[in-house]
Amino acid sequence: MDLIENIDLKNLMESTYNAISNFQIRALYEGKDDILKFGRFSEEDYNFILDSLLDAETERNLILKKLMGLPPLILEEIVEKVEYDKKKLVPTVEYLTQQGYVEKLIEIKTEIKKVKNKEGNLIDKEIKIEIVRYQAKSLDNSFRENYFEPVSLVFENNFCCNCGYCSSICPVGSITVTADDLKIDSETCIKCGLCFSVCPRSFPSEHIFTVLNKLNPNLKDGAASNYYINAYTASTKSDEIKEVCQNGGIVTTLLYYLLKEKEIDAAIAVTHSEDIWRPKPIIIENVDDLYKTAGTKYANSPSLTILNEAQKFDKIAVVGTPCMMLALKKGSIYPIGTPFFNNINYTIGLFCMESFSYDNVINISTEIFNKKLENILKMDISGGKFIVKDKNGEEAKVPLKEVTSLARDVCHYCSDLTSEFADISVGSIGSSAGWSSVITRTKVGNDLFNKLINGNLVEVKDLAEVKPGFGLVKKISGIKNSKCKKIEFNVKK
Ligand SMILES: Cc1cc2nc3c(=O)[nH]c(=O)nc-3n(C[C@H](O)[C@H](O)[C@H](O)COP(=O)(O)OP(=O)(O)OC[C@H]3O[C@@H](n4cnc5c(N)ncnc54)[C@H](O)[C@@H]3O)c2cc1C
Ligand code: SF4
Ligand code: SF4
Ligand code: SF4
Repeated sequence: MDLIENIDLKNLMESTYNAISNFQIRALYEGKDDILKFGRFSEEDYNFILDSLLDAETERNLILKKLMGLPPLILEEIVEKVEYDKKKLVPTVEYLTQQGYVEKLIEIKTEIKKVKNKEGNLIDKEIKIEIVRYQAKSLDNSFRENYFEPVSLVFENNFCCNCGYCSSICPVGSITVTADDLKIDSETCIKCGLCFSVCPRSFPSEHIFTVLNKLNPNLKDGAASNYYINAYTASTKSDEIKEVCQNGGIVTTLLYYLLKEKEIDAAIAVTHSEDIWRPKPIIIENVDDLYKTAGTKYANSPSLTILNEAQKFDKIAVVGTPCMMLALKKGSIYPIGTPFFNNINYTIGLFCMESFSYDNVINISTEIFNKKLENILKMDISGGKFIVKDKNGEEAKVPLKEVTSLARDVCHYCSDLTSEFADISVGSIGSSAGWSSVITRTKVGNDLFNKLINGNLVEVKDLAEVKPGFGLVKKISGIKNSKCKKIEFNVKK
């Protein structure tokens, strides 16, 4: 067990003893037969998960003891005051809050900031800033820690973005997720709450990763588009990819390189289903199949439902929208500080302002553009317009605001434009036609993109040096951030 040094035995034993009574550990312990019968996790996996949960819960108890008696502090102050690995400490403080051991105290401060008005003149604007402090509660003997509901709660409150992660993680296969539905079989559910722990829409986790990024000296501050290593505008050099891609063909070129160089055995991406323009999550194992994944489908895809199928591969890459990237990131720290899907070597995130239900993609095509969906060759969002190109080569465009009212409601609870929690993020905002904006976020993502540059597979320029460039990415990120609605659960009693 990777526990802190200098911990006395009595303290450790007490914390381990408390951990055993945790609801999640009990549910998994009691559900062992059902879990093994279902077959998603082998006995070895099962023991590993249970051991890891026990370790993580013991550590939570130890951290809670260190928080006791401290005044209300923001996360950065807690990192300064409490001697502990910050990558464990920061997420644990939020988890303890969700379990009811720590209280979140919110203060709203008003600041005056100089901003440019429509005429370009500097004016004073009142900005509200939320300061969140955490303080361990003093609890009496009647205290019971919060039990995590299955994610039906997230879906029933209309917050579910249908990423599909919960259905892959459920140890007894009780969850079915499609692009617009989520069902839980209450007969087979063992109430372990694992789905709730990992769900990007259950309790917030973005601030945890942002604080950890802020404390990482190797990252630059990208303002509303979060921390990053490098930002480029880039275009593929492959004519084959240029034929089929959405913007600069960077996502397809990344997958091409990874598959060709055998840095991955497979990738999770999206293709058309039998209904054209309805996205279908797909596992691709070779370059020949890659080209059918290129291009943007604006209906949402429940891509993470197939993570399980991809378990048979040792090394995979996952392409997805920001909500999926957040789900993968959250699942890498909760509930056990160990990723369930430790074969994910690369996460490639797309920019995403909103997505549409498949029905509304049909409506956009037929009602707004008066074109049959099957005749449309390409859909695109660029320069504030929604653009469609049909098979006769005709192009039509409408102002984006004419289609945004058709976006999925759940997208209004999303603050992330640029896949802030992926290894590498790719989008069109900021770049010219035929080019993509590329933001490397982690060493893994940065090293990968350098291999594309050094292998002469892409043409690149600095995103800060082109127009509209990084400035526009940050500006639109800020707009998405400020418009984002807050998730507040209406818990049925
Ligand atoms: C729903 C949606 C909304 C978007 N909104 C914006 C936006 O507002 N601003 C912006 O700058 N960029 C947006 N993008 C990203 C943009 O459309 C391009 O995907 C990105 O610029 C990469 O271009 P490329 O040429 O490198 O990709 P390509 O090489 O063409 O590869 C595209 C990749 O996207 C994957 N993909 C396609 N559709 C989906 C889907 N529905 N869900 C998950 N993966 C998918 C494919 O599997 C493929 O791997 C959006 C993408 C999606 C899917
Ligand atoms: S994990 Fe994804 S699919 Fe599951 S409830 Fe949460 S948002 Fe919905
Ligand atoms: S539905 Fe959720 S709570 Fe129920 S068994 Fe599956 S993961 Fe556990
Ligand atoms: S706007 Fe957010 S929730 Fe909607 S598809 Fe894009 S990333 Fe997912």
